[in-house]
Amino acid sequence: MHVKRLGEISGLVLRLNTSYGRWSGSHKLDLGEMSGIPLKNNPSFILCFLSGTVYLDHAGATLFPQSQLTSFTKDLMENVYGNPHSQNSSSKLTHDTVEQVRYRILAHFHTSPEDYTVIFTAGSTAALKLVAEAFPWVPPGPESSGSHFCYLTDSHTSVVGMREVVAAMNITSIPVRPEDMWLAEEQDATAASDPDGQPLHLFCYPAQSNFSGTRYPLSWIEEVKSGRMCPVGGPGKWFVLLDAAAYVGTSPLDLSVHRADFLPLSFYKIFGFPTGLGALLVNSRSAPLLRKTYFGGGTAAAYLAEEDFYIPKESVAERFEDGTISFLDVIALKHGFDVLERLTGGMENIRQHTFTLAQYTYTALSTLRYPNGAPVVQIYSDSEFSSPEVQGPVISFNVLDDNGNIIGYSQVDKMASLHNIHVRTGCFCNTGACQRHLGISDEMVKKHLQAGHVCGDDVDLIDGQPTGSVRISFGYMSTLEDAQAFLRFIIATRLRPSHGQPLPLVMPGEAGALPAESEAQKAVPATRARRSPSLQEDASPDSRVWDNSPTTVDAVSLRPPLLETTRTQQTPSEKAAGIPDGGLGSHIVTNLFLYPIKSCAAFEVTRWPLGNQGLLYDRSWMVVNHNGVCLSQKQEPRLCLIQPFIDLQRRIMVIKAQGMEPIAVPLEENSKPAQICQSKVCADRVNTYDCGEKISSWLSKFFGRPYHLIRQSSDFQRNARKKRGKGMRMERKNYFQ
Ligand SMILES: *Cc1c(COP(=O)(O)O)cnc(C)c1O
Repeated sequence: MHVKRLGEISGLVLRLNTSYGRWSGSHKLDLGEMSGIPLKNNPSFILCFLSGTVYLDHAGATLFPQSQLTSFTKDLMENVYGNPHSQNSSSKLTHDTVEQVRYRILAHFHTSPEDYTVIFTAGSTAALKLVAEAFPWVPPGPESSGSHFCYLTDSHTSVVGMREVVAAMNITSIPVRPEDMWLAEEQDATAASDPDGQPLHLFCYPAQSNFSGTRYPLSWIEEVKSGRMCPVGGPGKWFVLLDAAAYVGTSPLDLSVHRADFLPLSFYKIFGFPTGLGALLVNSRSAPLLRKTYFGGGTAAAYLAEEDFYIPKESVAERFEDGTISFLDVIALKHGFDVLERLTGGMENIRQHTFTLAQYTYTALSTLRYPNGAPVVQIYSDSEFSSPEVQGPVISFNVLDDNGNIIGYSQVDKMASLHNIHVRTGCFCNTGACQRHLGISDEMVKKHLQAGHVCGDDVDLIDGQPTGSVRISFGYMSTLEDAQAFLRFIIATRLRPSHGQPLPLVMPGEAGALPAESEAQKAVPATRARRSPSLQEDASPDSRVWDNSPTTVDAVSLRPPLLETTRTQQTPSEKAAGIPDGGLGSHIVTNLFLYPIKSCAAFEVTRWPLGNQGLLYDRSWMVVNHNGVCLSQKQEPRLCLIQPFIDLQRRIMVIKAQGMEPIAVPLEENSKPAQICQSKVCADRVNTYDCGEKISSWLSKFFGRPYHLIRQSSDFQRNARKKRGKGMRMERKNYFQ
């Protein structure tokens, strides 16, 4: 929780513009030196879809290089992999390949099958749940106080959730704060527990906090196992679960030295691909103790269908891998290891590279000052980024205004999206760390819930207090350019170079001047095109706008009294002349903007007919990707360059974009309705139809990706949920809003 104060902004901006080498004066930072770490222009590495994107959520999921996929698909094309439980030769090939991958995983963590078993799971969460269910818990009884399940409060939700499983077995859960562990470390406690005694306790802690990137000492493993350090007093033998899910993506881990009993992993955090595959590594001292309850395909040595007779398989992995494992994904891991090693030279290089980027960014960020000397960000960390031993490549922070007030993370997220910078916001499934760093009490968490805030939403401030933060995290393919693009974004959106003038917002794909009026546009009286206000579409109703953001315009305020004026055939000037100012009441329509295609540019009119969903044709269309997913400016900022014009006389919508021939789409619904399911409204299905191949190829040409235009069917009637609240009631609902 340090707010570092260094230097001046001007100095920083200068230094950011100088070469990497010169900036690095105080800390060594030379990418060229690091053999094999890929730069973005390495063709074997480039992800074509990544161009222009600054991806800074590697702790959420890292990215995969193209070569990893090509070598994996080549493998699948050249070999037949059957179900590993069959006996034929393709199945044998699968079985043997999977075994090779198990060795490879163990070798990656500097251990062998003698000391550890690999149990494939769906991910870290599934691995944690498995431990909760299978650990040899001892309930309290006349002779024993029972097992303890103990976890560091800076743990992922998936660790904390284990307490619900153990509670059902009458086991006590004890949260331990990092401060208490640091204290216990210093106290050099004389053994309070008996390393060979009963009952058995479990201590879980993250090797790296997924909130702040803090790396907790790996030495705790042996300290706790040996009883030298005791998370809780009392007799018993301690086992340690090291949640390595976040840590191993950017750091080597030597299990021959740090012999954790249980190690849950998610492979997408190391390789980016495959997803839905993880593992639980179990130490050979703990493996025989695990209790198996359920049995499924592949885990039984023998069982009877009619009698309670079941003998599990001998090997621990086979006993716990219920059903058929995700064997093709396991094979993909081999290619993940190969490519990772080839591109980077190994985890130690990754550790140095990612840490250096984080340290550089941290130093620069914590230096940023407003002209009045106030810091621009508040960083939440337990370290000063002094070494990769204590800090992972993660920076958690909130942006401040020049009075020291926090700017909500949702606003930062939206601005970052406009700059094509991808960050993570919220509490990152780690309420404990979030509370500790942001100073949120238990009562406040409950109050926030009552106020309608739930984990993962965009309610970023309640009573001016943050409910979460912004997190950036680096991966092995992150570059200095990524770090600098991020810093430039913070500087451009928060700081003005001298007096007054804000720095220009560098918008990806910024368009030039609007094209001249077209024929179609002239055909509709008094219309003009207007760029879609960038923040508007995603901004929540009560959103606080950044002081230098583009002005937002409320499209319309539909109130019955004012609709009357729309119906009368008056021009705006007649309207203004006819009604004295005082007689207008508090809600006045001054401009009308339609957004015929969701997320695209607005279409301004002075008068417009109403349809059964509000303004006629407002948000009737949307652009979807090849999977039918509706696109917003968040994913496709260039949507704002698409300008629709509705020509009511000719019954067409003309769509224009720079460098493209205008194209017309009929207003009539002509093709067969296709059903889509938009995530926002998944409970109900929305009837839509595709506007055809012609407009699809036009959009695909403009965006360079296969997109479609779809239209909400106007006869669609919503049957669920009645709209609540005052104001105008609409029977039909426009789902594209
Ligand atoms: C990501 C993560 C998890 C959960 O992993 P899943 O892949 O979501 O199951 C658990 N702990 C930490 C520290 C993590 O970073």
